[in-house]
Amino acid sequence: MEHTFSIGVYAHRDLNLVSGKGSLVFDSDGNEYIDCTTGVGVASLGHSHDELVDAITAQARRLMVCVNTIGNDVRAECMEKLVSISPSGLERVYLCNSGAEAIEAALKFARQSTGRTDFVSALRGFHGRTFGALSATANASYQKPFKPMVPGFRHAPFNQAEAFEKLIDDRTAGVVIELVQGEGGVRPAESEFILAVAELCSQRGALLIVDEVQTGFCRTGQMFACEHFAVNPDILCLAKGIAGGMPMGAVVANEKILGATGSHGSTFGGNPLASAACLKTVEIMQRDNLAARAAQLGDEFVREFSADLPPVVRQVRHMGLMIGIELKTKATPFIKRLQELGILVLPAGTTVIRLLPPLIIEKRQLNTVRETLMSVLQTDLDEMNSLK
Ligand code: PLP
Repeated sequence: MEHTFSIGVYAHRDLNLVSGKGSLVFDSDGNEYIDCTTGVGVASLGHSHDELVDAITAQARRLMVCVNTIGNDVRAECMEKLVSISPSGLERVYLCNSGAEAIEAALKFARQSTGRTDFVSALRGFHGRTFGALSATANASYQKPFKPMVPGFRHAPFNQAEAFEKLIDDRTAGVVIELVQGEGGVRPAESEFILAVAELCSQRGALLIVDEVQTGFCRTGQMFACEHFAVNPDILCLAKGIAGGMPMGAVVANEKILGATGSHGSTFGGNPLASAACLKTVEIMQRDNLAARAAQLGDEFVREFSADLPPVVRQVRHMGLMIGIELKTKATPFIKRLQELGILVLPAGTTVIRLLPPLIIEKRQLNTVRETLMSVLQTDLDEMNSLK
């Protein structure tokens, strides 16, 4: 039915999910799956977490809507919480509803604050599908049908500081960068690279805009991936895991960022319902030490999986529970087979299988994922390709 009515921008998988609990989701025929997609890294607390459901329900009964020109207690607490968990110096918050919106806001704030027009971002990066975010996303196939892009965006190869050095100049308002390229194939930044880019930004008066839409909220084994690199962004862009499944995005910025009254805004941004979900999500993440849990489970998974790598695997990359398994062939047939066997995973590009399980996933569930993955990747390639 969805396929019939959809405008058609998504490649639909042959699956219809109707409910979820913890790390499991259930389809309309009652089949059970271990969910390593989590709505692309959103349901970090798993599905229908009781305390989160209670917090959302209680807020829905109290107040769901409050225009941003009028104060709200939960929104204020949510902003305070986001500042308290962000790297030092990031003390101002703008709330929105998605990752792309966080990037759009960051781009506008950067132009306004620096008086400059241009941006530099990385090849293979992904920052969203709206015009500003898409202009920062150096992917010809995403951009081509929608040209012209916003002027002023240039791109350099990821992890090549010299290439960034050539592009960052006195017109550069900001460098927009992921610390682990997610859609680009789960590719972590090298420490020297990111520190060199941060240094170039500070020397040349450009802002460092770190896109933690996918890496934020404990996914990589720290609350934010920038903590792994000891790098201090000027602007942090957040979304996905921020509110446990409620749509929300945020920009957290330092004192260099101006936000002139009336220069930007959002009807739904910072609504009390999403704010309450964010507050409860972060509280649970901190209380249950989910960053440390993600680090440990991710390291164990990769160590155990890598002990006997099937020949079809080219490389395994990860940071915490953001795991990419690059194959020497297309990933889709393997992803389909895993689905038939009750494991849901994501692609990242054409050859990478990406796992973004809930951070509360049990070790025995992760073992099932690993063993099933191992057996599927050992399947004869011809047999796999016949499933295409
Ligand atoms: N930035 C990154 C790193 C992402 O991974 C994504 C989405 O996958 C976005 C931005 C865009 O987020 P959204 O789909 O919520 O607009």
